[in-house]
Amino acid sequence: MDNSVTPLRCFRERHALELFKDDSVKTVTSVEQCLDASRPWLCYWILHSLELLDEPVPASIASDVCKFLARCQSPTGGFAGGPGQHTHLAPTYAAINALCIIGTQEAYDVIDRQKLLDFLYSVKQLDGSFVMHVGGEVDVRSVYCAASVASLTNIITPTLFDGTPSWIIRCQNWEGGLGGMPGLEAHGGYTFCGTAAMVILGKEHMLDLKSLLHWVASRQMRFEGGFQGRCNKLVDGCYSFWQAGLLPLLHRALFKDGDSTLSMMSWMFDQQALQEYILLCCQNPAGGLLDKPGKSRDFYHTCYCLSGLSIAQHFGSRDFHHELILGADENRLAPTHPVYNICPEKVAQAVEHFHKLPIPVQTEAAINTPDTS
Ligand SMILES: [Zn+2]
Repeated sequence: MDNSVTPLRCFRERHALELFKDDSVKTVTSVEQCLDASRPWLCYWILHSLELLDEPVPASIASDVCKFLARCQSPTGGFAGGPGQHTHLAPTYAAINALCIIGTQEAYDVIDRQKLLDFLYSVKQLDGSFVMHVGGEVDVRSVYCAASVASLTNIITPTLFDGTPSWIIRCQNWEGGLGGMPGLEAHGGYTFCGTAAMVILGKEHMLDLKSLLHWVASRQMRFEGGFQGRCNKLVDGCYSFWQAGLLPLLHRALFKDGDSTLSMMSWMFDQQALQEYILLCCQNPAGGLLDKPGKSRDFYHTCYCLSGLSIAQHFGSRDFHHELILGADENRLAPTHPVYNICPEKVAQAVEHFHKLPIPVQTEAAINTPDTS
């Protein structure tokens, strides 16, 4: 691509305006709407997109989000998709991430860590897996959500993740990627969740990292430059994060393993082609990002396209002191933490805050009987 003729631009001001449009955060926190069971997700997608764009959030809005998320927290621990709904691991993950992005004392004080631990034990299964909610389904997303919130808030007890790494490696199949459960087809979202959970638990070397690298590198489409979620599927902008986000995790894991042939490589995917796909094909000129041309913009794709763009710009920069910013310098986004997908300084700040507090103890035997369904 000849940048002197058509410099590729990230429409960052328009994306920020779209994210703030119609008082979006206020709407999410005050009005029931179509994604009524995913309101902590909307908070997280909007706040993370704004931090990637270096757009400050006014203190009053941040405080409103804290108050709203406090209403989504269950009296028995964990967060629901909206006030008065059932507690679920996915909105719990989104709420904790949103609160850590805000990063104020008010935000941290929302989280009842003792009850959060009780909730995690209530969804833990004897085989090491987790259900998404009490009575709900098991899949590898739940393990990532649990490991992410427990590690950020410093509530990992010696038994909370007993058996979990062994369960996760059963999700890696012959393709090299991970399915949602043992025996299922490899999928980008599940592969990210399982791998990031293993990194949090310090057990990533139990995975077959080379076949995982082979699988994820093969998901970058030769023509489009973006990633597909599964073999033989179409490109989709959100996999710019779910797939490309695996590569910094693998890079570090292989470096830890001392595999010099791989760790010395500063590239594992075509960072430029991914940036071209996102900037050329996934931006709505009026603001917001999308799956592929012809699809409509939404907050989910805005968050994960921008997250993937950030990964493609900063991949390897920690180790090799370089960034690869395609197009104008103004296209540069803030880096994102590849495990938690919030900015690294917000991860450090939360870890520092919560590690000053004692780890709660399990108050009752809340572990479920095995899921026999
Ligand atoms: Zn998508």
